[in-house]
Amino acid sequence: MRRIGRRTAPDLIDTSAAGAARFVRSLRGAGYCPFLLADDHTAAACPEVVDELSAPGSSWILPGTPRVVPAIETSRELSRRIEAAGTTPMLVVVGAGTLTDIAKHAALSADVPVIALPTAPSVDAYASARSALRIDGYHRTPSCRVPAAVLSCADVIEAAPDELILAGLGDLTAKLIARIDWEVSSIVTGEPFDRAQADWCAFCARSAVASLRHGTLRSAAIPALDALMVSGLSMQLIGASRPAASAEHTLAHLWEIAVPFDPSQTDLHGLLVTTAIRTVVERYRSICAALSTGKAPSGSAHDIAAAEAGWRDRVPVEMSPFTGKMEEESAGRSLGETEVTRRRDAIAVNRGRIVELCGALDDAERALDALDRAGIGAYEAQIPDVWVTRAIDWVRYLRNRYSLFDVEFEMGWTV
Ligand SMILES: [Zn+2]
Repeated sequence: MRRIGRRTAPDLIDTSAAGAARFVRSLRGAGYCPFLLADDHTAAACPEVVDELSAPGSSWILPGTPRVVPAIETSRELSRRIEAAGTTPMLVVVGAGTLTDIAKHAALSADVPVIALPTAPSVDAYASARSALRIDGYHRTPSCRVPAAVLSCADVIEAAPDELILAGLGDLTAKLIARIDWEVSSIVTGEPFDRAQADWCAFCARSAVASLRHGTLRSAAIPALDALMVSGLSMQLIGASRPAASAEHTLAHLWEIAVPFDPSQTDLHGLLVTTAIRTVVERYRSICAALSTGKAPSGSAHDIAAAEAGWRDRVPVEMSPFTGKMEEESAGRSLGETEVTRRRDAIAVNRGRIVELCGALDDAERALDALDRAGIGAYEAQIPDVWVTRAIDWVRYLRNRYSLFDVEFEMGWTV
């Protein structure tokens, strides 16, 4: 057993499916009544544990097809079932990101501990203190209960479907983009920045991707889960997803809701994030090139402040369902003329460092190349051009999280 020495960190227990079954059996000996959450697919991935726990009234196995949606209503139903199940329950979730997010949220509502048994290294949900759920028609991240333990079963993780391992490695590639944007924000806006967490997250992500580049998809599965655990812990320590998610996640979250995927396409989080990274890397390359050549700002600070103040008048019809979300994210943000001037000065003074940070785009491209060679393209959904454009045009409003897109806007290169 490897312990990560923080009170809120789950114990990461290296085991096997058989070992996990013994572990959950021991919960009864410790006086707990385990309650199982799984779906048809995840139950089939770890029958040893499911057979141990799946008794009527103390388990909920959802249909696996169509894929379970991370809806808050499902979390509420789960907490009702847990509360009805009896005394001293302990929630055990056998699944990947969606089920784990539902379980962590329900565990907090029902005030019970939760143990996670990941069936795929596909997301960084396992150790994080927030759940990604659909609430009121948009992606949100309410607080949740951190698992007391994560059972890392090598035999289960290494047998995960290819697209789930690829999705996890794609989600890890996002940490390289997040590393750039977080420090750029600290330089330009003064946002608090934790260099150690930023570097640790990016380092672990690079290491997992290196396992893919130098080995096979299967050999990268456990390194990916370990790196995703680090990312979850880092988010928990920072109290936000800043070390793990930036503009690429904002694009992916819009597509998740706005794009009508047909059933033959997969809209797995990490795959959408990977598609978004392709777009973001290309755009960041051109912003970086402009910075490195010392391109002058376009338009006056007054023009930028006016464009910011008048964003509501420019919302195109397809984006109107997201106006409420954009209002929420923009509340309390002010970008007046004086602030634009101050930021332009900060960008000019620090452009060397910003360009240096963009060196991580090379790492992101190497990661995309390794993912391409591993066949991720076969699983990525085609995002209609209009939604690629809309996501880029509105990224600054969909999430109040400073990125190179803000640098581009403030320099007047988009207006
Ligand atoms: Zn993610």
